[in-house]
Amino acid sequence: MTTGIAELADALLAGQRRALAKAITLAESTRPEHEGQAQHLLTLLQGRAGKTIRVGLTGVPGVGKSTFIEALGVHLADQGQRVAVLAVDPSSARTGGSIMGDKTRMPRLTVHPNAFIRPSPSGGTLGGVARRTRETMLLCEAAGYDVLLVETVGVGQSETHVAGMTDLFVLLTLPNAGDELQGIKRGIMELADICVVNKADTNPQAAVRAQTELRTALTLLTPHDAPWRPVALKASALTGEGIPELWAKVQQYAAHVDLNAKRYQQTAGWFDELLREAAWREFQRQTGTEVIHRARQAVQSGDLTAVQGVEKLLASHRETASV
Ligand code: GDP
Repeated sequence: MTTGIAELADALLAGQRRALAKAITLAESTRPEHEGQAQHLLTLLQGRAGKTIRVGLTGVPGVGKSTFIEALGVHLADQGQRVAVLAVDPSSARTGGSIMGDKTRMPRLTVHPNAFIRPSPSGGTLGGVARRTRETMLLCEAAGYDVLLVETVGVGQSETHVAGMTDLFVLLTLPNAGDELQGIKRGIMELADICVVNKADTNPQAAVRAQTELRTALTLLTPHDAPWRPVALKASALTGEGIPELWAKVQQYAAHVDLNAKRYQQTAGWFDELLREAAWREFQRQTGTEVIHRARQAVQSGDLTAVQGVEKLLASHRETASV
């Protein structure tokens, strides 16, 4: 199988679409033997990606994410850039179904020779989905894709995951910003490097007002010493207005911020997260969930302080481990 993986790596590096799709399916598989093969493949591809840019996009359902990604993607692909669209969809983690990254929502991009669209992996935890998307990004980059657009829905936790795996994060909002801002969690605004008032064509005056309000909000949210001051733009995914300006800002950001340093930090953060999860699973396995449950109850009932409860569990874990 090792030769099979080496061949797959070669085909993928040559930019073969089928090899990329196969590699992603391998990385998404939860079967243990596939996991080993996927990790082997990733080591073979290490350092083989060109210079890429990873852009995360979010916004509430209906704001126009897929229309926007289609317009931006076609704009870039027409210029000869190779564009991959991926999605992190928490609802697919829960239900096993996915509406995001659905190819039927991006008809022109789907058939563009320079584009590759992959729906969110379904099933598993949000952490698991995020991890597979991260690996899919590495595979797309090795296959020669220059721009990665990662879509997520603006309702909660998945934004933090996507912001942690992309170079910059774009938040789409609507012209009726007053109402809109209340629907967006402040935490998501804080993640945004660029905010875009979409659907500016529907009400140009309201769009300008919303842009001004967003600017003020972003100024208040951004620390003075931040390496980048988030900007507010307006656009129409339907007419294409504002799309080139958005891309110019992305390039300005890439020139301004040290992306290598940012990715270096993100990789460390990812490693720590995986280690924390794995260590916790291992701890639960060795200690037993029932024992952990009893210690938690003892803390809840006041028989032990929280610190004592943890120390007790650790002491019994050390004993088991040293046997
Ligand atoms: P998503 O749920 O965020 O992915 O939103 P969609 O891309 O599916 O868009 C929701 C609806 O808004 C669709 O009917 C789009 O055609 C429409 N839409 C998206 N962008 C624009 C825009 O810039 N202007 C107008 N007028 N409609 C838009």
